[in-house]
Amino acid sequence: MTSVLAIDQGTTSSRAIIYDAALNTLGVGQHPFEQHYPKPGWVEHDPEEIWQTTLRAIEDALRAAGIGGQQLAAIGITNQRETVVAWHKDSGKSFGNAIVWQDRRTSPICQQLKSQGLEPTVTEKTGLVLDPYFSASKIQWILENNTDARQAANEDKLLVGTIDSWLVWKLTAGNDHLIEASNASRTLLLNLNAVDWDDELLSIFSIPRSVLPTIVDSSGEIAEARIAPLQGVAITGVAGDQQAALFGQTCFNPGEAKCTYGTGCFLLTNVGTKPVPSNSRLLSTLAWKIGANVNYALEGSVFIGGALIQWLRDNLGIVENAAEIETLAASVADNGGVTLVPAFAGLGAPHWDAEARGTLLGITRGTTTAHIARAALEGMALQVADVIEAMRTDLSGELTTMRVDGGACVNNLLMQIQGDYSGLHIQRATNLESTALGAATLAGLGAGIWSSADALLGLWQAERTFSPSIEKEALTKVQSNWRRAIARAGAWAED
Ligand code: ADP
Repeated sequence: MTSVLAIDQGTTSSRAIIYDAALNTLGVGQHPFEQHYPKPGWVEHDPEEIWQTTLRAIEDALRAAGIGGQQLAAIGITNQRETVVAWHKDSGKSFGNAIVWQDRRTSPICQQLKSQGLEPTVTEKTGLVLDPYFSASKIQWILENNTDARQAANEDKLLVGTIDSWLVWKLTAGNDHLIEASNASRTLLLNLNAVDWDDELLSIFSIPRSVLPTIVDSSGEIAEARIAPLQGVAITGVAGDQQAALFGQTCFNPGEAKCTYGTGCFLLTNVGTKPVPSNSRLLSTLAWKIGANVNYALEGSVFIGGALIQWLRDNLGIVENAAEIETLAASVADNGGVTLVPAFAGLGAPHWDAEARGTLLGITRGTTTAHIARAALEGMALQVADVIEAMRTDLSGELTTMRVDGGACVNNLLMQIQGDYSGLHIQRATNLESTALGAATLAGLGAGIWSSADALLGLWQAERTFSPSIEKEALTKVQSNWRRAIARAGAWAED
């Protein structure tokens, strides 16, 4: 009985993967669910649909693996972060839809708090910035705008949590109201050093402590499932998706970094047992907490990564599928002088320019779709290289390698360009399911399948390493062009 179920509850689909003790995949289930956009800038999910798709994914994975739930040794959960659910303590019914991390409705709340000069306090305590992205302003919004939720709060019947909280509540048939530490670190309510809710932050966002879940470890005895088909199986691992990927890539030591190339790109570096405040506009965040051991990370996100390739495919039609972009880009020796800044949704770390917009520069009569394809891959890699530079500044130690995962990291040219532009050895894992692997290994550790994290090191394998090979002069030229292009893309949109 050494199979582990990893639940991977993402932004667009709910997945379940069952692994054996050697981390071979035994069965997979996956169900997409609906995205709700009730108003411009609003993004919601139906919490009940999140749960039902998760449950069906679990059932499918068990069926595919040919085992029953009772044969599982442990359950691990990884989830979309920052998204908020509010529900009734007795009925378990949610108060409206979940407010998703992408939702911008609480921008005015954040602006107002900024105008009161509160951002430095918030950043110092949480490691984050005052932005609608995080959970606190979403909870405040629910308390101010959902009268049923407000009334329940007054009657001490309101429960609020992130997606891990919601799934644990459902899996335990309403027995446990918990939040795992890395998820808690994304709420803007957690004191990063104390790993506890912070009274001053609760007061800034007018949130009563009583509605919040109990903070628990990322690995260990967390809860026990009380519903079919998982009755009695222990939940022994939980982490937010990016932190789970960092763990799944076995980046256990300070200075070890991973980047996930999906729709966006998320780079996290393990910084060890003390949070590192960023002077370069990165986020300081909790990676995982296992007993008394707390590990922290620095994080930088790039909003448009693989989404750029989707745009080239769907909006410009220059390729029919994402894989073709590599062949097209490789058909020319260089970008022909073209630079593409993929600031379609503004620029994330370290630029943080919400008004920046996508920019295509240097077009001549000779420019072809191949040059644009190449400039697109370079634009993705250069955005990540900017985050890596910021990490180097904050860490004052040298980064040497970065492990990669996510749908776009299968692109060999992109990975070579990334190595060239960042001066890093890029290691691509054999198993690219880092997020689910992280949930499974945190759970397996918690259940005693592996005696220590060190036992996992041997299970991670590099499929290929891309080492920097660009000439210094060529690199300097690319970097200076990029800086000029970023400046031109900046502050473009008007309100
Ligand atoms: P997410 O989890 O964010 O949905 P995935 O990890 O599934 O993303 O990766 C999908 C993304 O990877 C898409 O945006 C797609 O355009 C991009 N992608 C897939 N294959 C390639 C490729 N060969 N080259 C570049 N990008 C790719």
